[in-house]
Formats: sequence, C-alpha cells, structure tokens
Amino acid sequence: MRCSVLSWLMFAFGLLTGSFLNVCSYRLPQNISLVQPPSHCLHCNRRLKFYELVPVVSWLMLRGRCRYCKTAVSVRYPAVELVTACLFSLCFRELGVGCELVKALILTSFFIVITLIDYDHRLILDKVLVCLAGAGILISLPASHLPGSSVDMLLGGLAGGGLLLLIAIASRGGIGGGDIKFAATLGLWLGWQYTLVALLIAFIIGGLGGGLLLAFKIKKRRDYIPFGPFIAAGAWLSFLYGAELIEGYLKWMM
Ligand SMILES: [Zn+2]
Repeated sequence: MRCSVLSWLMFAFGLLTGSFLNVCSYRLPQNISLVQPPSHCLHCNRRLKFYELVPVVSWLMLRGRCRYCKTAVSVRYPAVELVTACLFSLCFRELGVGCELVKALILTSFFIVITLIDYDHRLILDKVLVCLAGAGILISLPASHLPGSSVDMLLGGLAGGGLLLLIAIASRGGIGGGDIKFAATLGLWLGWQYTLVALLIAFIIGGLGGGLLLAFKIKKRRDYIPFGPFIAAGAWLSFLYGAELIEGYLKWMM
C-alpha cells in the first residue's frame, strides 16, 4: 500500500487539473486566452468566486446551476474533473513518485484535452500537438522506463504517422489528418514499439466502441465517429501497461 495521504493529494491534484482541462478544451478551439477572462458563467457572464471554483463540490452544492442566473451547468464539468482525478490516481498507483509519473500526468492531461476537443469539434488542434511534441522532446532527455533513445523517438514518429497515413489512404478518408499527426507526435513520447502497441489497442477499442455505438443506435452507420479519443486511450494504456502487454504477447507466442 502506498502512502494514503499522497494518494489523496494526487486525487485532489487531479480534480484541480481536470478543472483547468475543462477550461482548455472550451477555450483553445475558440482561440480564447486560458487565463483571461477569469472563469465566469457562460450565460450571465458573472465572474465565479473562488469557492465556486472548487471542483465537483461547488457543482454539487449549487445543484448544477449558476448561482446568479440559475442556468444549468453541464454535468460534463464535474465528470471531467472526476475522470482526471481517477486517471491521475491510477498513474500514481502504477508508477509511484518520480519522473515517469510526471510524464504520465502530462500525457493524461493532453489526452483528455484532445479527446474533449475531438469529440466536440472533430478536430485535433495543431497547437495542442506542437505543445505535446515539444513536451515529449524535453521530457525524454532524462532516462525512461520505455526504450527511449532519440532514434526510437524518430522511428516512433515515422511508424505512428506512417501507419495511419497508409490506413487513411487505403480507407479513403476513414482517418483524418489530425489523427495522423497525433500518432506521429505520440512516437516522440512512446518510441516505435509502444506507439505500435498504442495504435493496435486504439483499433481494437475503436472497433469495439464503434460496434457498441451502432448496436445501441447511439450512432448511425454513416455518422462520423472521431478516432482521436481511441488513439488517446490506446496511448495511455500503452504507456502504463505496454511493457506487460508485450511480455504477455511474447510468452503466448512461444
Ligand atoms: Zn449565470
């Protein structure tokens, strides 16, 4: 058992980060600054007081409504905060304190923003990918638990981007340019082996997820289903569990 105080601190840090990621996913596609104007009600523009910014709790206290104009505040905001907190806690449980945890938290945050924006706008923003690539290069300089030489990183970018580019050509537009750039950027973080694992997981859960959406008639056959969230989920799982997955696969092959 890891120290439970640290676990709770990580959960709280996840809630606060989730609150910021909500802001990012709303403002970045509209080119609004992340700091100005300060958080306000999107309906009546009243600025939120500090105690109205406490993640999840203030939403529950105000029963999901703005204190002033009583307009409903989407349940998505506290949900994103809770999901971020749970994912942060899981990263902490798997990796403990250290450089790898920092990497995992950065990746998790980017993946949540990319997922939300792709879901809302069918778009993976270049500026988000540029930041993800820059952070990946900076943070890969120290040692990694993944095979992380600079050659691996470059090969990862080529493998990820190249594979999706081929599939995009073969499927005639089933995969967008944003997905290709996203996969190439992941290579910088994961190296080519773990990028391929990430994409394999993305295709499996994308297929299953798409099937379920069709089966439950949430989406129709011709509807667009963004692939970015599945790439993000695959990369997250590959980063945390890729080593076990590759080892298990090799044992199974023998
Ligand atoms: Zn309001």
